[in-house]
Amino acid sequence: MSPVVVDLHCDTLLDIQSGTRRLAERSARGHVDLPRLREGGVGVQVFAAYVAPRLAPRGPQRARELIEAFRASVEASPEAVVHATTVASIEEACGAGKVAAVLSVENGDALGGRLEALDDLYRQGVRMLGLTWNPSNPLGDGVLGRQHGGLTDLGRAVVRRMEELGMVIDASHLSEASFWDLMDVARGPVVASHSNAWALHPHPRNLTDAQLRAIAQRGGVVGVNFYPGFLGAASLDRVLDHIEYMATVMGADHVALGSDYDGIPQAPAGLEDASKLPNLSAGLRARGHAPEHIHKILGGNALRVFRQVWA
Ligand SMILES: [Zn+2]
Repeated sequence: MSPVVVDLHCDTLLDIQSGTRRLAERSARGHVDLPRLREGGVGVQVFAAYVAPRLAPRGPQRARELIEAFRASVEASPEAVVHATTVASIEEACGAGKVAAVLSVENGDALGGRLEALDDLYRQGVRMLGLTWNPSNPLGDGVLGRQHGGLTDLGRAVVRRMEELGMVIDASHLSEASFWDLMDVARGPVVASHSNAWALHPHPRNLTDAQLRAIAQRGGVVGVNFYPGFLGAASLDRVLDHIEYMATVMGADHVALGSDYDGIPQAPAGLEDASKLPNLSAGLRARGHAPEHIHKILGGNALRVFRQVWA
């Protein structure tokens, strides 16, 4: 079986839920749909149900709307996509030439301040949660938040419960104080599903070398984000630079992909949408990386974390 490509983050559900386009139809708009995932050789796509902070007052309801749109899209195309909640179902889907769609929630406002809401999300098949978006929420501070000085008691309880349930904890968007609080509380691997290297481009959404190392030490991964504003340039070469830098700091076992497609207003030249993903592996090959390293970065590392956390 050829190596499985895993993308840890896209915001495509926003367009699907609003009815702008359908997951099953190749569109000239946006970045991700089933035909383009197939063209790009993407085996596993994590779909984020993103609760915008302005919708926090009805966060749980908003999450339900997006999850319902996800469920309806998957049910509409059983020949092409599977809602995967285990690594076994990912392997089965990929073996059958289908896309394995993993459901994630971005922004703990989806919980409406209730720890029990996490169990509801799990029962609906959510297997990853980003604790915050950019502002503060009841779980803690995001990169632009200064309300709590890190994670709250609820945020810590959510982290512990996620580890009990077997959900991947996503550190992307956390403030630095929240990040280190998370590292204190979490016992297992943590991911940053769509973040880049601060050393290459000092943006608050990017991770310092110390943060990258902390994620690697726990066996986690960081998914490189394709947003030019986080990369520092709008090119495939710049994506490769961030991948190589993170692999140097963390080791090749801890780098993954987190395109942020359909959440970013502009994609790099050469990675215009999901169908262009083969350019990334070609670029890594051209830079002399060993095939086994490339396979890990494109998906093997992310699958390792799924296997460990979801077990
Ligand atoms: Zn995001």
